[in-house]
Amino acid sequence: MTPRRAEIIAIGSELLEPWRLETNGSHLSRRLGEIGVPIRFRTIVGDDPADIMNAFRVALGRSELVVATGGLGPTVDDLTREAVAELLGLPLLDDPEVAAGIEERFRRRGYAMPPSNRRQAQVPRGATVLKNALGTAPGLFLRVGEQAIVLLPGVPSEMRRMFDEEALPLLGRADERYIYRILKIAGLTESEVDHRLTEVARQAGEVVWTILAAPGQVEIHLKERVTGGGAPVGIARLDAAAAAVLGPDLFGRDDDAMETVVGRLLVERRESLAIGESLTGGLIASRITGPPGASRYVAGGVVSYTDAAKTRVLGVRAETLQTHGAVSAETALEMATGARRLLGTNWGVSATGYAGPEAGDPQAPAGTVHLGIAGPNLATTRRLNVPGDRDVVRSRAAQSALDLLRRALLGAMS
Ligand code: ATP
Ligand code: MG
Repeated sequence: MTPRRAEIIAIGSELLEPWRLETNGSHLSRRLGEIGVPIRFRTIVGDDPADIMNAFRVALGRSELVVATGGLGPTVDDLTREAVAELLGLPLLDDPEVAAGIEERFRRRGYAMPPSNRRQAQVPRGATVLKNALGTAPGLFLRVGEQAIVLLPGVPSEMRRMFDEEALPLLGRADERYIYRILKIAGLTESEVDHRLTEVARQAGEVVWTILAAPGQVEIHLKERVTGGGAPVGIARLDAAAAAVLGPDLFGRDDDAMETVVGRLLVERRESLAIGESLTGGLIASRITGPPGASRYVAGGVVSYTDAAKTRVLGVRAETLQTHGAVSAETALEMATGARRLLGTNWGVSATGYAGPEAGDPQAPAGTVHLGIAGPNLATTRRLNVPGDRDVVRSRAAQSALDLLRRALLGAMS
């Protein structure tokens, strides 16, 4: 069976509240897209039996495949199994194998199985049980004539593993599938990217071309339909054309983050980094140490928030602070060279600025940031004026500092 029309139902009252983002649907639409099954609808529904039944009734009226997540747990608000069984008029039968599996899971952890978990061993007649490698709630796969229903746990890690390993193989690979690529661009606004890539985008043809602004970067999302075992030739062509136009402004693709790209460059060059930061309060150090193996290139960092800390730890001269102020190119440069000297690294990177919301000083309003880079044959600064609130200013400063370092490593400072 290759479903032509699929939809997703995310079940959980918390997903209707402001605090939780519905992310399961993103994973499912990506995976289904890869096997050529387009998603037509995504519904979020609370933990209410009538609402859940209704959502399935509507979905089955218009889609060949319905994938639902959540509500398979042992608690009273977990109602998906019952709602689907009732809607389809199927009895729920105790599955001894599933029950034994859940019991075993508890035993291994040294607990007796709470009676409420028994409900998780109930299976609508005719359903296939999907193993849960990471939790107790098994998933279910049901065929209803030409249609299919997949029920998955709500916990994102369990849901992803179960869908990829247990459910996808049952769905059969379509002859056509979608391939995705994301191009990541730094240092340009969305409209600048749009403008520079107008000609390239015009040649997109069958490839879906979407431009999206993300925090501190701009992304081009490409999606191409390929048939059989074909290669995404359109994506390859557009990627090469965009790369030629963008040069070093294109910093990465797909899962690349600025810090992983910088980390790779430092590893390739066998060079090391020290950080001296003020307004970012450790954000730069936190990001650059995020990828595994960061100890190969990060020596350490200093959060020098006060003038005294800048002087005592990083060796910024009192005279520099007095003459130019803490938020100045001169101070940024001395912070970068100071961090580099202090830790004996090849590179030093720094950030100082006014995160706001209070006004900075007459020459430098809130949102003014100075970044510094000190390297083997380089000592340079950049000034940013970031509109936005405190969080935006701080995260943009960290992103731009890493981007500046990346360009310095590439020898591509403009
Ligand atoms: P399970 O079937 O695994 O028991 P559940 O709905 O019963 O799922 P909950 O305890 O309600 O489990 O949810 C587990 C966690 O997973 C919660 O933190 C919940 O917010 C999260 N979660 C559930 N559905 C989604 C979703 N669609 N996107 C992101 N997070 C989700
Ligand atoms: Mg739930």
